[in-house]
This record gives sequence, structure tokens and C-alpha cells, in this order.
Amino acid sequence: MVYKIPLFKLNFNHLEEEAVVSTLKSKWISIGPKCNEFEQDFSKMLNSSHAISLSNCTSALHLSLLALNIKEGDEVLCPSLTFAATVNSIKYINAIPIFCDIDSVENPTISVEDIKKKITPKTKAIILMHFAGYSCDMTEIMAVAKKNNIKVIEDACHSPLSEYKNQKLGTIGDIGCFSFFSNKNISTGEGGMIVTNNHEIDKRIRLLRSHGMTTMSYDRSKGHATTYDIESLGYNARMDDIRASIGIVQLKKLKPDLEKRKVIRAKYIELLKDTKSIDIPFSNRTDFSSNYIFPIVLKDSTNEKRDKCRERLHKKGIQTSLHYPSIHLFSIYKNDSVPLPITEYFSNNTMTLPMYGSLTSEEIIFICTTLNEILNEL
Ligand SMILES: *Cc1c(COP(=O)(O)O)cnc(C)c1O
Repeated sequence: MVYKIPLFKLNFNHLEEEAVVSTLKSKWISIGPKCNEFEQDFSKMLNSSHAISLSNCTSALHLSLLALNIKEGDEVLCPSLTFAATVNSIKYINAIPIFCDIDSVENPTISVEDIKKKITPKTKAIILMHFAGYSCDMTEIMAVAKKNNIKVIEDACHSPLSEYKNQKLGTIGDIGCFSFFSNKNISTGEGGMIVTNNHEIDKRIRLLRSHGMTTMSYDRSKGHATTYDIESLGYNARMDDIRASIGIVQLKKLKPDLEKRKVIRAKYIELLKDTKSIDIPFSNRTDFSSNYIFPIVLKDSTNEKRDKCRERLHKKGIQTSLHYPSIHLFSIYKNDSVPLPITEYFSNNTMTLPMYGSLTSEEIIFICTTLNEILNEL
């Protein structure tokens, strides 16, 4: 069905179209000057010394683990309340994902207490995820990581420009990974970015993203180089100039879009403040957030009741989503996972409501009124 109010709308206009046409006319469409410009704009925006554009965030996570020298059999701590790619990347290198629970319904990010419990001599890294654009407890996590000599990768797919105590998310750990998949805060169709303040990591990622080759075809076409060496095994995880030119435009629109999302979140919270049967996570946060999604959690509910509620919203033309089913319960992971009660509770009772900059007040009122009616009936 075509929803009256979809979960997400692209923030595109003639500017993205013109950028693409201009790149096509330049006759250079693979990785080149536009990727460089996008990387520079991104690192400036986040205040990081390096940014490396990539084909997607799944590759960003994979290459991050390789660049940090995480090896087969190493243990990597991760949340289960995240998108599958966060954890699959650990499997790509034959390391072992060790699932940690979330802190609470109010703070559904990785629990520091559980991290501490699950550290062993084999723990080499943590991949954490800043859910919905709200940060994990970075002070505590960085302290634990430092004490135990553990690398920290931030899956910051939900969080471009989000902050933790005046620091941009993605720039606090060793490496930050971003996605520009269509429905993210910055959309290029497919796309990803790594940020780091470590020069060696930057060099390694640049080799890994392009077969380990020491020069790029753009440099050779410009006569800056005529040959290349391959020093180590690499992959093809490059972005291209067509997508990068869309990304450059999207970056300029990001801050205004996030300002609108902030107002939308406030409106939702105001309209739902008397709805006793739901919890709204992160209601105590004050740091700037990208508000990638707007999750709510049904109280005294069940998986079936939540699904029924979503179905009725869909019948009224309101699209919702589920961020996320617990990863540790998926078939490929369930044999080596332990129960994570708070994550499971959250997955069973949460749903995400529409969130995008052009969502109108009337639409938010319609969503909240309809939700309240349905909750009263159920
Ligand atoms: C979207 C997303 C990814 C994967 O990003 P791709 O660019 O689609 O590979 C990974 N982690 C999280 C939390 C995401 O939201």
C-alpha cells in the first residue's frame, strides 16, 4: 500500500539532480575529486582529522576491524539491539561477537555493566551503536576500554552531528562508521564513511578500500603516477563521484534538517505526554541529536499486541517500523548467544513512528491521535 504518512521521506530537490548531472558531464564518475571533496567536507563537519568515503557502512565496519588488527578468534563486544551489519562484520573476519544487553528502556544503548562482565583476556574490541542518534555512555566505555586495552569502533550510522558532551559522535573512539543508505540522515543511495584521528588507520583504510593498491586510477589518469604496488590484501569498497556529489549537497542540508527533527520530536513528546501506556526512550537527554528515528515502547504489552497496534496504524495509512529485532535471536546467532532480557523486552515492545524533516504538525497530530485511539482499544 501507499502510506499517507511514510516512515521516511528523502530530503532531495533540484540540487541533488544538478550535482549528479554536473558529475556525469565531467566525464569522471568513479572515485575522484568529488569523493575527495565529500571527505573533506565530512571531516570538517565532524572535526576529525581524516574521513574516508566507502561503498557502504557494512564495508566501513569490516575494514575497521581489519585496520585495527582484530583477528580470527578474538572476541568483540557488541549490542544485539542494532542492525545486523554491526554484528555480521565481526563474523566476516572470523572473530567472535559477544552480545551485551542494553542499559534500560530509557537508555537502550549498550550497558556498561554488561560490557564489564563480558570482558575476557580474548576481548580485543567493542563495536557500539549510538541508537536513534543518542550516545552510548562514552566516558565510562572509553575508560573501560583504555584500562583493558580494547579498541572502540563507533557505529554512528544513526548519528551524524549528534553530540556527547560537545564531542561529535563517531570521533570519540578509535574509528567512527557512517552510512548514507537511502533512509539515513544523509542519503546517497548506497554509501559510507569512516572517520578517525589516527593517521596510520587512515592510511590502512585507504589501502583496504581499493585492493591494497598504492595509487588510484584518478592519479594515473592525471599523470601523477604511472604504476602501483600491492602491499597487502585489499577489497573494493570505494564510493564513486556520482554518489559523492549527492553527498556534498546532502551535507549542506543536514543541520537545518536536524533542527526540524528536533522540533518534530518535541511535538511528539508534547502530544504523547499523557499517554500512560508508552515509554519514550532518551527523554532525559539534552545533547544535540540527529533523531534518525523516533522509537516508542509499549508498556505492559506483548509482542502480539505491539504487532496488532502496528497493523492498525498501517491500516490508517501510517507506516511504522521495528528497530530492531534482537540479533542474538536470529537463526545464525542463536546457538552461541545468552539471554539478554532488556534487549528482548525492548525488541518485543518497541516500534518507530514516522520521522523526517518535512513531517507537518497536522501529520504529527494525526499520528498521535490515531495511536492513542488504537492503544485505548487494545
Ligand atoms: C544502516 C546501518 C548499517 C549498515 O549500513 P549500510 O550502509 O547499509 O551498509 C549498519 N549499522 C546501523 C546501525 C545502521 O543503521
